[in-house]
Amino acid sequence: LEPLYSFMIRVRVPGGVATPKQWIDLDNIADKYGMPTLKLTTRQAFELHSILKHNLKNTIKEINDSLLSTIAACGDVNRNVMNTVNPNTSYIHDDVQDVARQISDHLNPRTSSYYKIWLNDEVVAGNGLTEEIEEPIYGKVYLPRKFKITLAIPPYNDTDVFAHDLGLIAIEKDKKLLGFNISVGGGMGMTFGDNTTHPRLGNVIGFAPTDKVVDVCEKILTIQRDYGNRENRRLSRMKYTIERIGLDFFTVELNKRLGYDIEPARPFKFTTNGDSYGWVKGANGKWFITLFVEGGRVKDTEKYPLRTGLREIAKISDGDFRLTGNQNVVLGNISDRKKPEIDKLLKQYNILPEQDKTPLRLHSMACVALNVCPLANAEGERYLPELVDKIEGLLGKHKLQNEPITIRMTGCPNGCGRPYLGEIGFVGRAPGKYNLYLGASFEGDRMNVLYKESLSEEEILNTLDPLIGQFAAEKGKDEHFGDFLVRKKVIEHKNLTTDFHGE
Ligand code: SF4
Repeated sequence: LEPLYSFMIRVRVPGGVATPKQWIDLDNIADKYGMPTLKLTTRQAFELHSILKHNLKNTIKEINDSLLSTIAACGDVNRNVMNTVNPNTSYIHDDVQDVARQISDHLNPRTSSYYKIWLNDEVVAGNGLTEEIEEPIYGKVYLPRKFKITLAIPPYNDTDVFAHDLGLIAIEKDKKLLGFNISVGGGMGMTFGDNTTHPRLGNVIGFAPTDKVVDVCEKILTIQRDYGNRENRRLSRMKYTIERIGLDFFTVELNKRLGYDIEPARPFKFTTNGDSYGWVKGANGKWFITLFVEGGRVKDTEKYPLRTGLREIAKISDGDFRLTGNQNVVLGNISDRKKPEIDKLLKQYNILPEQDKTPLRLHSMACVALNVCPLANAEGERYLPELVDKIEGLLGKHKLQNEPITIRMTGCPNGCGRPYLGEIGFVGRAPGKYNLYLGASFEGDRMNVLYKESLSEEEILNTLDPLIGQFAAEKGKDEHFGDFLVRKKVIEHKNLTTDFHGE
């Protein structure tokens, strides 16, 4: 007899786009084998929680039967490739999505073990093979650690393109995709008490045309494979490799491996790293609506039967389901004919996006933390809604209830909810205690700074109240909270790329 082990299974969704049938399939699988909810992650994947060990094989098989996969959703390989799903960008979205899929397929491990262990040698989804072959990119020892790639389409930085090992910023001209600026060396994780570790934003090193970008990704990944730290896992992400070998050496090495020099970066501008809510018509003539999913948890409550509503919509939708980098969902590519039916269901199940929700809440994000993640020091997803209620009270008191402010919470410093990019960021220190970070930009291109440590809820509210009051009295036109705190020198910004701890 052994303990009743339970597991989390992460399902990769390249670019975050799933079919209505896949949504229903995953919903059924969650019901059958795990916690009867779906968790949408900050990296556009699904997570199923509380899968008992004896159900693992059937669960993974059924996920593969739905033509989704769990391969490389974890491990020291390239993870789920993210992409902007903002419908306003749809005239180049399909092309960018195609690149996201190509990168994902190209960097998928070729191992046959996954299929042998989980699928009885049957290849159903992905590009797995049942014969043993050598890994052409990963070799025998794979990468020193996980590797994360994301794409973003300006002006929307909803995937936080600078927070990943490799970020690709789409450059378009006359509504045509030309290629991508390349950002390298981002990553959110750190370890409390070890200041050699820190979050970091990527550096833009150049531009690659669309037809070369998959190869550029491969070459960057192989530099990390060959130069990454394999002795200390805490320092093994590519951000530390770049700091150790230098950005210039990294770029020269990339050019050498490519056989040509990457082009200079092209101009771009981001305006937000949040999601835009409500119905919009895409350039392809189809309809899109972004729905808020608090903490990324698709579940039913008495007043808010989100899970049932989305399931009913999936049964009739002729479009797709798009997971956003902010843990929300876009119902996409809906025809004129289906839109009224879907609208009716949204009203029936009370899941219209902006209804009763402040911009603060609509810009909130939290990792799972307690009671699901074993690394958590404190609550995340289960507590942030309650704290947002109270901060909404402060904003109301200072007549700022319509102010969009990004607010993020994680249960530990690993940073899965990208807390260092919140204008207000919380990182759990102990149950009920959080470090408070302030001053990130609204566009996701500047990290915040540690403001106070180990605060209780009361201390958090007492700290934020005067700052929000000062913001209400002195803010400039269209000035965001994070920018205001920097302008007023409430927080001092150092070079956060290399000096997060101010040492
Ligand atoms: Fe990630 Fe830490 Fe949150 Fe767990 S508690 S999900 S490791 S940030």
